[in-house]
Amino acid sequence: MDASRTAGKAKRLSILGSTGSIGTQALDVAEKTGCTITALTAHSRVEMLEAQARRYHPRLAVMADEKSAADLRVRLADTGVRVAAGMEGLCEAACMDDTDLVLNALVGMVGLRPTLAAMQAGRDVALANKETLVAGGALVMDTAARHQVRLLPVDSEHSAIFQCLQGAPPGNRALKRVILTASGGPFFGKTREELKRVGLKEALEHPNWSMGAKITIDSATMMNKGLELIEARWLFGVPPENIDIVIHRESVVHSLIEYDDHSVIAQLGVPDMRLPIQYAITWPERVPSPVKALDLADWGKLTFFRPDYDTFVCIGACREAIARGGLYPAAVNAANEQAVSLFRQEKIGFLDIGTLVCSALEHALPGTGGKGETLEEILAADEESRRYTMEAAQQLTR
Ligand code: NDP
Ligand code: MG
Repeated sequence: MDASRTAGKAKRLSILGSTGSIGTQALDVAEKTGCTITALTAHSRVEMLEAQARRYHPRLAVMADEKSAADLRVRLADTGVRVAAGMEGLCEAACMDDTDLVLNALVGMVGLRPTLAAMQAGRDVALANKETLVAGGALVMDTAARHQVRLLPVDSEHSAIFQCLQGAPPGNRALKRVILTASGGPFFGKTREELKRVGLKEALEHPNWSMGAKITIDSATMMNKGLELIEARWLFGVPPENIDIVIHRESVVHSLIEYDDHSVIAQLGVPDMRLPIQYAITWPERVPSPVKALDLADWGKLTFFRPDYDTFVCIGACREAIARGGLYPAAVNAANEQAVSLFRQEKIGFLDIGTLVCSALEHALPGTGGKGETLEEILAADEESRRYTMEAAQQLTR
């Protein structure tokens, strides 16, 4: 990456999903680092987007549907902020000509087209929206390379690896292994028998992080770590067999890399997403942050364990999906999005999420699953896997 392009400049940011957990923290970071805001977007939280637009004066504000957009338009009539709707609006927010960096904090596959649109328009992208890199990894990385734009990781593990790699030999030549840390979520140490009885409320109680509902459930099933494994494969070009996972309950060591000489380098910090968000925004610069300093003596001890792959089956499904390649990662991601949605509606049980993800890996795609190199193929596989998962879920509950 050419670090000189925007070094030392306060950036102009477009934040997609600005009303979410990452989005609101990104606005906080943007304000403290002197960035200006060019566009903001939300799904349905109109009041919150109105408040953000009044505070940050973007040129464009986008709601997911026309009805919410009409409401926002009336609310912002006195401000000069233009309001748009839907996918077209999201892609417009991603392509603004006065934007330096698009921070994609949308949740789920809805983020894929805006990411591609931003890159095609020559904008750098800070990516929190992991589902789209999982589903469209080859296409996203290829688009970034063709348009010579940067893809900066926001996810704390990938930010950690990215930070560890600063100053590494060119092309990650001597990189042997990437080690992703995982908190283990609220159900660490539980057996499958115990997990049969857990409900939505318990799954939404993450021990270390306050996050959006979807990723909180993904952390409870550990699908999140499977998604992150695939994300790491694309971001750092590391073969999946060289990506390990270790449970680290305290979420202080955010991930590690190992070189050929067995030297291991880690990035540490208190668990606070504003740190990786800020690094993605200010890279290659480092600036002071409101995040609490790490005092290791305060923590006393840090603990590490091997994951329980038999109980948390989603990790294995993701590993197998990326080993097979093509559209398999898109299929497991879509099955998970659909299953999490059903679980949040309390239509299926907690363990059913893993069952549906594993089932989609084996049965959702016809034949060998296709290459996954075009947007149309990826979206078709996504749709097919969602349809398959809905049907499979009905079999479960009969
Ligand atoms: P949230 O659910 O808190 O926020 C999602 C944002 O996207 C909101 O602004 C929401 O709008 C908007 N949105 C949701 N659905 C749609 C849609 N269909 N169309 C348009 N906009 C939509 O999610 P998080 O901030 O927790 O996560 C965002 C991404 O970052 C995810 O991919 C997650 O895996 C990843 N991530 C999150 C971390 C965290 O700490 N939260 C850590 C690492 C990665 P509205 O508010 O109106 O619903
Ligand atoms: Mg993470």
